Amino acid sequence: MQKDSLRRLYIDELRDLYNAETQLVKALPKMAKASSNAELRQAFEEHLRQTSEQVSRLEQIFESLDEKPTGKKCLGMEGLVKEAAETMQEEYEDAVMDAAVIGAAQCVEHYEIAGYGTVKAFAELLGEQEHVSLIEQTLDEEKSADQKLTHLSENINSRAGEEGEVREGEEEDARHAKTSGKHSRRAA
Ligand code: FE
Ligand code: ZN
Ligand code: FE
Repeated sequence: MQKDSLRRLYIDELRDLYNAETQLVKALPKMAKASSNAELRQAFEEHLRQTSEQVSRLEQIFESLDEKPTGKKCLGMEGLVKEAAETMQEEYEDAVMDAAVIGAAQCVEHYEIAGYGTVKAFAELLGEQEHVSLIEQTLDEEKSADQKLTHLSENINSRAGEEGEVREGEEEDARHAKTSGKHSRRAA
């Protein structure tokens, strides 16, 4: 009995993650588009490819469980994606927008890391070793995506800190910040 209800919880959590990942497949291209920094944009494009693979891994798990992946809406991810969308509506300078998008994306990665950590523990308890290794692959991708964002933020945040401090235009960076101007925005 006890094992049965943990299995039900496990499947429920996997459905939640499946829905979260499919929301991200739609959100990541928007985050890439909002990014001015080329490396940041590439990081989002790369993570979009990984996210599609993560969706496939979950489908593999559901197949082996003989269950359907659909039927749940991840409200947590919905909220994070909405916050990111709200942030991307703001009129920030390019580097500031990049810093903002990194912050939003890291919230997403941490949320996923928590979710996959939970299902990994359940899979271990339930003796689903194949699932554990699939989940671990995804978990590693989420962790390295997070680390990549931290790494990119080091440069981007310091540039963001320079924006708005521009007065005389003496420095190369300062001049660049001025000419690159506001992040382009499509009319609502
Ligand atoms: Fe993911
Ligand atoms: Zn969720
Ligand atoms: Fe992710």
